[in-house]
Amino acid sequence: MNYTIPEEVFVKAAEQYGTPLWIYDRETIEKRVKETQVFDTVRFAQKACPNLSIISLVRKLGGVVDAVSAGEIVRALKAGFKGGQQKGKAPEIVYTADIFDKDALELVKEHNIAVNVGSPDMIQQLADFGVKSELTLRVNPGFGHGHSSKVNTGGPLSKHGVWHEQIKDCIKLAQNNGMWITGLHMHIGSGSDFEHLSQVCDAMVDASRRLGSHVRTISAGGGLPIPYHEEDKGNRIDMKAYFELWDNARKRIQQSIGHEVHLEVEPGRYLVAESGYLMAEIRAVKKQGDNLFYLLDAGFTDLVRPSFYGSYHGISIIARDGRNLDETVPKPCTPRVN
Ligand SMILES: *Cc1c(COP(=O)(O)O)cnc(C)c1O
Repeated sequence: MNYTIPEEVFVKAAEQYGTPLWIYDRETIEKRVKETQVFDTVRFAQKACPNLSIISLVRKLGGVVDAVSAGEIVRALKAGFKGGQQKGKAPEIVYTADIFDKDALELVKEHNIAVNVGSPDMIQQLADFGVKSELTLRVNPGFGHGHSSKVNTGGPLSKHGVWHEQIKDCIKLAQNNGMWITGLHMHIGSGSDFEHLSQVCDAMVDASRRLGSHVRTISAGGGLPIPYHEEDKGNRIDMKAYFELWDNARKRIQQSIGHEVHLEVEPGRYLVAESGYLMAEIRAVKKQGDNLFYLLDAGFTDLVRPSFYGSYHGISIIARDGRNLDETVPKPCTPRVN
């Protein structure tokens, strides 16, 4: 595997801190944040890596953050982001969820956190709790995508977002309670399927018609893909083309309402996935029938994705003493899941 960090650094870090150990490469994160800053606002979907130092780094680089739970609001505040909503400025923290639990509702009120509403019930609960603020709406356009059926974030089988036919009802419900919906959000995860993405963009333009001149911001959501396999490394997403599709949707909306619309993107994995390494030590080697197993001091409590939805993570071995392992150690078996 090609590391972005010298092998000696891994060995030293493991000796100093023990294993299992997560190591992150700051330069990679900086590069990815800068690339995505062709959008007006880059909002880090922190569940991709809610490490406090990483969230702070994103803040220093000019990014903002989303929070999908009370705990993530607390993390965002700890990392130095502030609540509050100022006219003409993207809020530093946006709570994007389909429900409020009690803690989240209290934190939203206490810190004046912007809310991206995922169900009509949330609007009513905000009102009942005495919150009056501007809202954005996460819309489920009626179709989905996603890199795995377990993380599909649109369509009738997804719990996420307000069903597209209910946008008008939500607008009314908000207005009846003295609130305005000023933005729309779609997180569908088209990946690099640009044909699908342009359908999402069309759905955004369509949804914005229902909101009319109140639209001030639209969010393209996340789902930007990264190359998982070594052999795909040269095949990166075309950020310019990705942006242009969304920029075009934004321009169509601007044209029909006659004022500027702010364009956000909300990547999670894209900003951090290629920067992270999980280091574990081989603690036992054994044969089970014809299969050779290397047993590590790390498990799915440290990296849940392969067992949760079969995501691929490359594995390679570094020798503590720097010797060339190709001659002495059989290659680890390739993970069966993909
Ligand atoms: C997970 C998530 C994202 C980011 O998804 P990635 O595939 O990691 O880019 C963006 N927005 C919301 C609301 C999410 O839950």
